[in-house]
Amino acid sequence: MDNLIVYKDVKEYIEELTLETDEKFSEMEAYVKEHYVPVITKDTRRFLEVLLSIVNPKKILEIGCAIGYSASIFANASNAHITTIELEEEMVKLAKENIKKIGFEDRITILHGDAVDVLPTLTEKYDLIFMDAAKGQYTEFFRLCEPLLSDNGIIISDNILFKGLVGEKNISKIDRSRRAIVRGLWKYLSDIMNSDKYKTSVLSIGDGVAITKKTGGN
Ligand code: MG
Repeated sequence: MDNLIVYKDVKEYIEELTLETDEKFSEMEAYVKEHYVPVITKDTRRFLEVLLSIVNPKKILEIGCAIGYSASIFANASNAHITTIELEEEMVKLAKENIKKIGFEDRITILHGDAVDVLPTLTEKYDLIFMDAAKGQYTEFFRLCEPLLSDNGIIISDNILFKGLVGEKNISKIDRSRRAIVRGLWKYLSDIMNSDKYKTSVLSIGDGVAITKKTGGN
């Protein structure tokens, strides 16, 4: 099992409906296509844009900046300041160039480093945290993000269904190189779905998106 998480024709239909009209992202989108950079899908992008208009976050934290595409989408769709963490130096360089070109350099702060090291150094509270980095480390990222989440904060986790592989019950049928990620996602999803401090919904859009809201409890 290594497929789309919805029927191909349904995915294509939704993509046709979500035609882009915003020229300022076309250069980044062309780069993504040419270099196979894993960024948010069109349907995930639209979901996040709608969500931002509902939540109206003042501060957004992103784990996994890549070339700065999603951070730029967030800046474009909200009035928030975005702090984004990226491990790879080459990606940081590209993201800085892209964000400058698009004119969001005052709204987006890029922090270079491993999120596991960077997150404990942050002191501000964030209204929305977007996790889109190493999928096997989501449990650890979430633990480090908890103290950074504002009272009404939301955590969005991307690629949570990992090409449908999380639905495969027999781990031996999954490629060895991917087993640690699948196991990590199983644990993460089980934890956040069964938490008494958070309410989570898993959505079959893009590569799977989980939306988690703090509900109280200890
Ligand atoms: Mg992603």
